[in-house]
Order: sequence, then C-alpha cells, then structure tokens
Amino acid sequence: MSLLIIGSLVAVMAVAAPKRSDDSPYQGEYIAGANDFKLLERGMRQARKVEEMLFPSLLDRVDVVLYDTKYLYVYSRDAGHALPKWRRRAGYQVYRLEHGRRPSEREMARCSGGTDVVDREIRKQLSEEYFACAPWGTFGAIQKKRRSVYQFEQGYLATIIHEFAHQFEFWQPQRTVEMAEIRRILSGMKLKLKADPESAAGEGFASWCELEASKKLYAEHFRRMLSEAAGDKPDDLYAHGAGLKAAVALFKARRSKRS
Ligand SMILES: [Zn+2]
Repeated sequence: MSLLIIGSLVAVMAVAAPKRSDDSPYQGEYIAGANDFKLLERGMRQARKVEEMLFPSLLDRVDVVLYDTKYLYVYSRDAGHALPKWRRRAGYQVYRLEHGRRPSEREMARCSGGTDVVDREIRKQLSEEYFACAPWGTFGAIQKKRRSVYQFEQGYLATIIHEFAHQFEFWQPQRTVEMAEIRRILSGMKLKLKADPESAAGEGFASWCELEASKKLYAEHFRRMLSEAAGDKPDDLYAHGAGLKAAVALFKARRSKRS
C-alpha cells in the first residue's frame, strides 16, 4: 500500500471515529429523588456563605435548574415566571415541566450554563443568569466510573459554586481584579489550548472561586483539586485543566502575599 493510500485511510478513519462514548444517550430512566433535591439545595445554601467574598449580590439573580431524564425543576426567587409551578422549596419557587428530550450520558454527569436539556423557548422564561445541573444520583455514579474528583458529594457541592462563578463573570459589566489576574497568569503559561483563550480564562476564574470556597467549606475536595492541578492529564475542550492550574497559581500568590 502506498503511503498516500495509508495517509488517506488514516484521514477517513479520523473522520469516521465514533463520537465520545458519553455523548451517547443516557441509558434508562432517572427521576430525581429526595437526596438529589437536598444536595442541590445544600449547595445553593452553602454558596451564600461565600457570596460576599466571591460573587457579591449574585445569588438571588440566578435561576438554578435541576434535570432528570424526564423533567426540569427550575429554582427561582422569582415566582412570576410563565412556567408551571410545582412547589416551594428552600425559599425558592420551584417550577416543574417535562423537557421531552433524552439527555446524553455526559449531560447526566454535569452542571453547566448552556445545555440543550433546557430548550431555547424555556430559556426565554428564565432569568438571564441561570445554570443547569444533573442530579447527584447520576452525576456521582458517572463521575465514579470516570474516577474523577467529582465522584464525591463535596465535588458536586463545589461544582455548584463553580457554576455560580461563571454566572458572576457573565453578569459583571467589568472584570474584577481576580478575573484580570487569571488572564495575566494564563498568558504567561504558554499553553497549547484546544479551547478559546477566553474559555480558559472563564474556567480559571470559576475554578479559583471553587478553590477558595472549598478551602472554607469542602476540605477534602480542596485537597483533591490541588493534586489534580499538579498532575498533567490532557485538557478538555473548555480548558478546565489550564484554568485550574491558573486558579491554583492565583490562590497561592494570594496566600503568600498575606503571610
Ligand atoms: Zn466551568
């Protein structure tokens, strides 16, 4: 076989490579239960303990959406959304509606600001600042299969802080000192990013908030983040890895300045 043919075979194989296995549909049904609501609500409540320090005046603006394989549960301070009211929980109006989609395995193991689980028409009904989370029941189980630091309850709680931090950055008209510092640190890191540098900067700021909050609230997760940052796992498409390294650098610089 000539080199040319081998070359084009490799190219064809690359194009035809299967999608990441966790992009495949989540197998089975999962309806959120008492533990899922409780853990999400605990994360939202504990975020208040670091609100002043990390993202002042943010929390009441943000709608938090929990989803399972059938429903969206929208937690909002605003009882006036044009969505079906379900019940009041933890000081929030909770709306519940069917999303009519089959989430992927990946979606059932993440929290994020933009997700197809929340359809465009429904997004129009939400606060401009919102994020959506898979329930702990699937999130923890899938993260455990991946042997990730997010397989533990503290990882889930810390993820909620991370998502609030992303919303804070979207909402802020101007960069805070920390957001600027993260960009300066990243620009000195000479990274080969698959992601947009702005994505790395966003992940850096969110990870810094996650780290500071974990130092206070989630000691084991804090230690796991530090060892994750010290390793060199290949980075993902959002540059969470580069962001985390920059976040740890900022965290350490702050601590050495104080001592
Ligand atoms: Zn993030």
